[in-house]
Amino acid sequence: MIVSVVVPCYNEESAINLFYDEMIRALKPLMETKSVTLEFIFVDDGSGDSTRAVLRDLAAQDSRVRYIIFSRNFGKEAALLAGLQKAQGEYIVTIDADLQDPPALVPSMFEAVASGEFDCAGSRRITRKGEPPIRSFFARRFYRLMKKISDIEIVDNARDFRLMSRAYLNAVLSLHERNRFSKGIFPWIGFRVKWFEYENVQRIAGETKWSFWRLFLYSLDGIIAFSSKPLAIASWFGIVIFTLSFIFIAFIIVRKLIFGDPVDGWASTMCIILFCSGIQLFTVGILGQYMAKTYTEVKSRPHYIIQEEK
Ligand code: UDP
Ligand code: MG
Repeated sequence: MIVSVVVPCYNEESAINLFYDEMIRALKPLMETKSVTLEFIFVDDGSGDSTRAVLRDLAAQDSRVRYIIFSRNFGKEAALLAGLQKAQGEYIVTIDADLQDPPALVPSMFEAVASGEFDCAGSRRITRKGEPPIRSFFARRFYRLMKKISDIEIVDNARDFRLMSRAYLNAVLSLHERNRFSKGIFPWIGFRVKWFEYENVQRIAGETKWSFWRLFLYSLDGIIAFSSKPLAIASWFGIVIFTLSFIFIAFIIVRKLIFGDPVDGWASTMCIILFCSGIQLFTVGILGQYMAKTYTEVKSRPHYIIQEEK
């Protein structure tokens, strides 16, 4: 029975070998007792360092190691997708290269799914130790907001560290959208998922690629991909302002009839103009976001370009 291990790598030259050793060590019991054969699929997401050389060396040493090298950086979602599409195993693990996802959990995740009781084993961090507090704060806000405005149940602090059955993976791959927000895709497809919890650990080498800004944009992607509430909010704004303007028009007419038309009110006119144009730009902006996403979907460019693979 083959278990595929899919690993997205972006500038991970110093982490890959450590990761590989640790993974082999953690999965030894599975290989010995459950007659599991491993297949590694490393995806070099357009790294600027020597990640690709490290991968070639590793593949030369171990025939179970396969790799994909992208022509440029396409992002972690694309890297994961490429690896999942290439995987041939009955069970598939997705895991980060920096050992922030403990390989030691994989055997119990495998138990859960191989027993047939679950289709997927997911993982979540129960602490965000070692992370800037402001980041954790906004992450919590984001999960709460997502729960409110989308129909899917996004699990707090769920990681991309998963072990899934072939059936589950096929369901994941049947979603063809360009704007891939896997934190939403996984809960969307359903199935029975068992959650494993662990404490946050620091990455083994290298540094994180997720700046605060990048995470912020990623969260916007998620909202737009899995909720159309912002569009509803835009039209609610419209309705509320329309109603208010009726009341205001009535007030102006009555005032004109009773008091005539003294020329003042520059301040109130300016306030109204500024307020309404602000709202208009804001709602047009929301429309624009959805339109831009629709535009990329319609162009249906490939998710990634492969430069080299083995
Ligand atoms: N990664 C990737 N492409 C990117 C950014 C990250 O393939 O554009 C990979 C990275 O090599 C790592 C995983 O995604 O294996 C998680 O990235 P990172 O550790 O930087 O994120 P964090 O753990 O800080 O959330
Ligand atoms: Mg990491």
